[in-house]
Amino acid sequence: MKICVDQINDKPSVLQAEVPVASFPVLVGMQNDGVCTFTIPVRYDLTAFREYDHLRVEGSVNVTASLTCSRCLAEYESSIASNMTIFFRRGTPEEVVLEEETELSEQDLISSVYCGDEIDLTHEIEEQIAMDVPFRPLCGEYCKGLCPECGTDLNKTTCSCSGKQFNFKFSALKDFKASR
Ligand SMILES: [Zn+2]
Ligand SMILES: [Zn+2]
Repeated sequence: MKICVDQINDKPSVLQAEVPVASFPVLVGMQNDGVCTFTIPVRYDLTAFREYDHLRVEGSVNVTASLTCSRCLAEYESSIASNMTIFFRRGTPEEVVLEEETELSEQDLISSVYCGDEIDLTHEIEEQIAMDVPFRPLCGEYCKGLCPECGTDLNKTTCSCSGKQFNFKFSALKDFKASR
């Protein structure tokens, strides 16, 4: 995922490829931590061109991940697609090291520093994907989750616990009213 700086001019060059997840240390780390499993290679579709004093790289990155719903614990697949724009300006090697130590912020516009004649996009691409993996995954907006009492998956079937709980509250309210 390297760009040869000398080959970039003011006409956009197209950079497209599919890269195995194993090439991205941050994504491999997420898999090892059990955050999710990436089920297809990472695909990027970017253009790069020279603009004023910097290089501009923009386009989309996407991949599919298998996630575990935080409410019902079901596994589901979700496509993760995200747009990014990065401005690269030439800097000193010290500046590059400093940049690598700072985490990318949660925004689409990223500015970065490079030195030498190559820009490696690996880190930018993996950080962009990592940001788009949901922190609390949900299989669907209306997932009902598991019953806190008996563990029944309420998306698939019902159980009697929730009913009982409701009746209990209701009768307590009735007693309260009756005692006045
Ligand atoms: Zn769910
Ligand atoms: Zn239940």
